Amino acid sequence: MDPAKLIDVDPAADALAQLFEEAGHQLYLVGGPVRDALLGRPGDDLDFATDARPDAVLELVSAAGARTWTTGIGYGTVGVQFHGRQCEITTFRADRYDRVSRNPLVEYGDKLHDDLLRRDFTMNAMALSLPDRRFHDPFGGLADLARGLIRTPAPAMESFEDDPLRLLRAARFVAQLDGVNGVPIDVDGDVLTAMKAVAPQLSRITAERVQAELTKLLLGRNPHAGLVLLVDSGLADVVLPELPRLRMAADEHGQHKDVYAHTLQVLDQAIDLEDDGPDLVLRWAALLHDVGKPATRRFEPGGRVTFHHHEVVGATLAKKRLTALKCAKDLIEDVSRLVFLHLRFYGYGDGEWTDAAVRRYVTDAGPLLDRLNKLVRSDCTTRNRRKAAQLAANYSNLVTRIAALREQEELDAIRPDLNGNDIMQILGVPAGPTVGKAYRFLLERRMERGPVSRDEAAAELREWAASADVTGTDASSPD
Ligand code: ATP
Ligand code: MG
Repeated sequence: MDPAKLIDVDPAADALAQLFEEAGHQLYLVGGPVRDALLGRPGDDLDFATDARPDAVLELVSAAGARTWTTGIGYGTVGVQFHGRQCEITTFRADRYDRVSRNPLVEYGDKLHDDLLRRDFTMNAMALSLPDRRFHDPFGGLADLARGLIRTPAPAMESFEDDPLRLLRAARFVAQLDGVNGVPIDVDGDVLTAMKAVAPQLSRITAERVQAELTKLLLGRNPHAGLVLLVDSGLADVVLPELPRLRMAADEHGQHKDVYAHTLQVLDQAIDLEDDGPDLVLRWAALLHDVGKPATRRFEPGGRVTFHHHEVVGATLAKKRLTALKCAKDLIEDVSRLVFLHLRFYGYGDGEWTDAAVRRYVTDAGPLLDRLNKLVRSDCTTRNRRKAAQLAANYSNLVTRIAALREQEELDAIRPDLNGNDIMQILGVPAGPTVGKAYRFLLERRMERGPVSRDEAAAELREWAASADVTGTDASSPD
C-alpha cells in the first residue's frame, strides 16, 4: 500500500502547494507532520521544504495576502499563517558544519534528498510532495517508525557532533512516542553509542534550547522512558545531574530502596493522578522531590538510614537547577515550594493532626494544594501492602477533613476576624507597626480556633493589647 494514502493532507497545505506549483517551485510536507500523520497523531503546525530561496518564498506568500514572520529567515525558514494554519516553509538545506566554531554554515541546496539527509532522525526525514502526493522516504523512516527505532539518516557520530541538541531530541522523541499504537520506542545501538560519546558536548547548547527539549520530554506520554535514556546515555550528567545522583548505594544491608527507581515510580504515579492533561509543575515536582536525599543521607547506628531536612535541601537544589535551565519564574517557585512541602503530610501520622494543623497545611500549600495532594499520594512506593493501605487511608482521611473544614470556613480566604481599620479603632492606635502585630496575632488566633464573632475577637484583641502593653485611646470600649 502506498503510504501517501495514509497521510491526510490539510487543505491549507494543498492551497499553498498550488501557489508554489504555479511559480514553478517544489513544495513538500516534511518532518513532524508526515511522521505524526503516519502515526495517526494529531499535529499542530505544518512544516514544509522547498527549493525556493527564502526571499522568493516570502514574495510568493505575501503576494497571496498571507501574514508572515521572519524570525527564522537566517536559517531559511519563513513562517506563514495560511488558511488558518501555522506553516513553516524552509528552503532545502545543504549545510556544512564548522567543526571549530561548531556553528552551522547555512547553505541552501536544490535536492530534497540532501535536505532529508541533514535531518535528525529517519522518522523525521520523510516527505510528501504536493500537490501530487509522492511519498519520499530515502532512509527507511517508515520502517523505523513501525518497529519503534530511532536512527539517524547520516552516521550517528557525525550527526550528533554537528548538532548535540539532537541527543536530547532522541530522548524527547522516546518520551513522546513510546507506546503510540502499542509500539515501544528505543534508540538504535549506534545511536546509543554515539549519544554516550557525544554527551559531554551538550554543554555547547544554550540553556533555553535544552529546557525546550526537556519540557517536551516531560510533557510526553512516557517521560519515564525518556529520562531513563537521559541517565543511561550520560546526557543527564550534563543537563540534570541531580537525577543520576539518586542512584545511591543501598545501605549496608542492601535494605534501602533505590531513590532513583522510587522517583521514577512516583513520577508515573503522579501522572496517573492528572485529571486535566499533562501538568508540567506536578511532573517536575515529582521528578525533583527527593533530590535533597544524597546530600542529607546519614547512616545511623543500627543500620538505619535517615535524610533529615532533605525537603529543605531539595527545594534549594530544585530551584537552582530550574533557574539554570532558565525556566519560567512561576514554575520555579511552584516546583520548589512543592518539594519543600512534600514531607508535611507524614506528620499527619494516623490522623493525629489538630484542625489547626490541617488549616495550616492548606494555607501553606495555597493554590498548590491540589498538586501537593497528588504529589503526596504518589510518594508511596512501598511494596508492603498493609503500609500502603494505611498511608492511602490516612491520606483520604486528610482529604475528607480538608473538605469538611473548607465547607465550614472557606479556608482559602482565611483572614483575621477584624481588619486593620477595626484594630486601629478598637485599640485607638494610629497606622503603624502595632496594627501589623495585632493583625498577625489575630490571624494566628484565627488559624488556631476558627472564626468567632466580632465582639469575641475584639475582646481577644484587647486582652492581647493589655498583655503586650499597647497604649492608645480605646475608642470603642465602654467607660
Ligand atoms: P514537534 O513540532 O512536535 O516538536 P517536530 O518533529 O516537528 O516535532 P521540530 O522541532 O518542529 O520537530 O522540527 C521540525 C523538523 O525539522 C523535524 O521533524 C526534523 O526533521 C527537523 N529538525 C528539527 N530540529 C533539528 C535538528 N536539531 N537537527 C536536524 N533536524 C532537525
Ligand atoms: Mg514541528
